[in-house]
Amino acid sequence: MTATVIDGNKLADELSEQVHEQLRQLKISGARPGLATVVVGDDPAAGAYERHVKRLAERLECDYANEHLSDDAEVADVLAVVGKLNADPRITGILILRPLPPKISEPLIYRALDPYKDVEAVHPENAGLLAQGRPRFVPSTPASCFYLLDAYLRSTGRDPVAFFPGTSLVVVGRSDSVGKPAASLGLQRHATVTTCHSRTKDLGSYTRQADVLIVAAGRAGLVTGDMVREGVIAIDVGIDPVEDPETGKTKFVGDIDFDSVAAKAEAITPVPGGVGPITDVWLIGNAVSAAAAALRVEPRFGVSL
Ligand code: NAP
Repeated sequence: MTATVIDGNKLADELSEQVHEQLRQLKISGARPGLATVVVGDDPAAGAYERHVKRLAERLECDYANEHLSDDAEVADVLAVVGKLNADPRITGILILRPLPPKISEPLIYRALDPYKDVEAVHPENAGLLAQGRPRFVPSTPASCFYLLDAYLRSTGRDPVAFFPGTSLVVVGRSDSVGKPAASLGLQRHATVTTCHSRTKDLGSYTRQADVLIVAAGRAGLVTGDMVREGVIAIDVGIDPVEDPETGKTKFVGDIDFDSVAAKAEAITPVPGGVGPITDVWLIGNAVSAAAAALRVEPRFGVSL
């Protein structure tokens, strides 16, 4: 079997057109969405992602602000910044970029977010609503996985609503931001969901059962061809830095060993160019939604999962 490679860039362009149009309509109602990112310390990945989100927000004409605290910031400093953004009516969505320095407790910061501005659904109230199947915000990365899956299934003439009940969905990774919400979204679609993690014994015995496989482990090439069954639909969330043997420079690969899995899969997402581009647009879409909800106006970000 030669897998269809699902083109995340193309789908992201289509999605960003929708978000752009919703933004234009929202502005007619007098609402201006504003996204704020909070970065603590000098982690290069967080810094690079911040610049990336800024460029995208500017391209979509969404107001943008960044709060950058130094590595030696205390919990109280971060809480003060979050409090300031919560109170700022120009900001409708807040994103805390990971990693935070070890002395800053993520759960403590997440609990301080205004739940109506918590566009990544990390506040316990939003995580709970998502787990109960009535999300206020669907966090961008797991949302992207299902957006890609739905688009792919439709492109083959299948209805996603009819496809998922009874399928075996295996999620590798149980982070609060990706693995757990992806598993919740799968359950809401009546898939039979298995969640694997670093203590799972014999990972391949689980991944081989997957009709749909979502891998979000942060381990380059973790899932290889011998660990999947023929015809799997494989979604690779990983963005893992490795040294390019030819150039000596850092390049990014996924958690799935692309060539060996693509040889058996029905469809697969590449890295880069798969999940990542949709994630970015979805984030802005959630900020649009938050702005619409704050003013009780339509349109909300109009993609349902
Ligand atoms: P994370 O918080 O580090 O979580 C990784 C998860 O993978 C954990 O649950 C861990 O298990 C599990 N795991 C680690 N090694 C494993 C192994 N050998 N076998 C099975 N499970 C294993 O990472 P994350 O934030 O979820 O991100 C995961 C990956 O996705 C990273 O590469 C990240 O860069 C990427 N990412 C991409 C996007 C995008 O838009 N494409 C967005 C976010 C993240 P334990 O819980 O037992 O430790």
